[in-house]
Amino acid sequence: MTVLALDVGGTKLAAAIVADDGTPLEARSVPVPRQDVWGACAGLLRQVAGMGAGPVTAVGIAAAGPVDTITGTICPINIPEWSAGFALVEAVRGLFPGARTELVSDGAAATLAEQRFGAGRDVTDLIGVVVGTGIGGGLVLGGRIVSGRTGNAGHIGHIVSPYGTTVCACGGVGCVETVSSGPSSVRWARAHGWEGRDGVALAADAEAGIGIAAAALERAGTALGQAIASAAALADVERVVVGGGFARSGGHLWRPMLASAARHARLRFIQRLRIVPAELGALGSLTGASIVAAGHDWIT
Ligand SMILES: [Zn+2]
Repeated sequence: MTVLALDVGGTKLAAAIVADDGTPLEARSVPVPRQDVWGACAGLLRQVAGMGAGPVTAVGIAAAGPVDTITGTICPINIPEWSAGFALVEAVRGLFPGARTELVSDGAAATLAEQRFGAGRDVTDLIGVVVGTGIGGGLVLGGRIVSGRTGNAGHIGHIVSPYGTTVCACGGVGCVETVSSGPSSVRWARAHGWEGRDGVALAADAEAGIGIAAAALERAGTALGQAIASAAALADVERVVVGGGFARSGGHLWRPMLASAARHARLRFIQRLRIVPAELGALGSLTGASIVAAGHDWIT
């Protein structure tokens, strides 16, 4: 049985063969091209499929949201070519006729992977949060993805934040993504006189004791903690796994995040909430997509 996984992110496409223990083998990735995104996806899939021992039996697709698991289409905010929706499942089926093909949101895939093989393997109920250029997430209850009607449950980045004042990429106003994502934090710091380039520089400057950089991370972390406490109460979970590039910003982000979550998570059933770093890294979505595609009943 050869299971392939494809991850269509906002900035990067990745594909791999995934072993039974969830390890992506021979993973390949390319930046999302401006044009012919499907051509790039197909090229990656053909490349990794050629490394398999036998015919491809299943393909799991993790995609940046919004996804539509009813129609098998996706329209990621960061891929303009597909803004009207692209029938990704149908296209993948065309490449591998006969293979089982499943689509999940990348946040849900990453969360399921953490529950099976990562920082949530000792619990069955958790929320995953992916803090990077945007803020994604997923919800796993009873060891299965809660996908919602169209596959988008768990979009924690679009919980409204008390700090939020600006228009979000989703069209709404004040989503936590507009406060706590890497680019949003950089934008706030720059508006307050910081002159650095990106989220990595922001974290380094906070670590070096530059006040405005530390304040930007404190604001981001506090808002994230509030959103996490809200979501944890809604979903009744005991674990939240936080990953993504900007989540690696260190204590200046994590301390205020944990403190504000503790301040707001007061109900008895979430008082033991633990917020921990993701363990699987950027390839977690590939692992999660492969688990779904392998045919077990992993989606509610
Ligand atoms: Zn939004």
